[in-house]
Amino acid sequence: PSVIVAIDGPSGTGKSSTSKAVAARLGLSYLDTGAQYRAITWWMVTNGIDLDDPTAIAAVAGKPEIVSGTDPAAPAITVDGVDVSGPIRTQEVTSSVSAVSAVPEVRARITELQRSIAAAAEGGIVVEGRDIGTTVLPDADLKIFLTASPEARAARRSGELQGADVNATREALLKRDAADSSRKTSPLAKAGDAVEVDTTDLTLAQVVECVVTLVEE
Ligand code: C5P
Repeated sequence: PSVIVAIDGPSGTGKSSTSKAVAARLGLSYLDTGAQYRAITWWMVTNGIDLDDPTAIAAVAGKPEIVSGTDPAAPAITVDGVDVSGPIRTQEVTSSVSAVSAVPEVRARITELQRSIAAAAEGGIVVEGRDIGTTVLPDADLKIFLTASPEARAARRSGELQGADVNATREALLKRDAADSSRKTSPLAKAGDAVEVDTTDLTLAQVVECVVTLVEE
């Protein structure tokens, strides 16, 4: 039977690492929805779209063709045929993505893409994001909401960025979460029927074990 797992939560809670590991363990597909919002943002930045103008963003939201790989071992993403796995992780994209993903036309387009990928995933899929359990896949078989203290999240993120200043990372991360939580269309939120897992004092292996156990129950 095909199983759909939604994993939501703010940045730095271990969503990506957890989701990929759970998908690999259970032989499921994997979708990183943050990468899709980063990809459309990368395209907007590259094409000089004014990111302070939601109308300008909305007008071109349907233009880039975004294709997401769903192999948890190698989740590539392309925009108009170009692999943007690296470029979508730059500081510039990270600081612009909340503005682009707040535009309703962008969300409508990306949400449709996410639903078609989930529907096509034979055997099931782990989908990670901010609004998967609430909006994209409200009928998911299991919904997880990951949390962690701001300190733990900043420490993990600056570890990934290799030597980045922890305080600056913490501020940038909190600012992005505040923007993602306060937008009008499908904000970052915990679904009423999601299981909340606080990862502050857990290792990745422990979080993965916990989610795998919940899927198998
Ligand atoms: O998960 P990641 O940090 O890569 O997500 C980047 C950004 O994409 C988030 O800060 C948020 O603005 C947006 N996003 C979203 N909805 C999702 C996933 C990501 O708005 N389901």
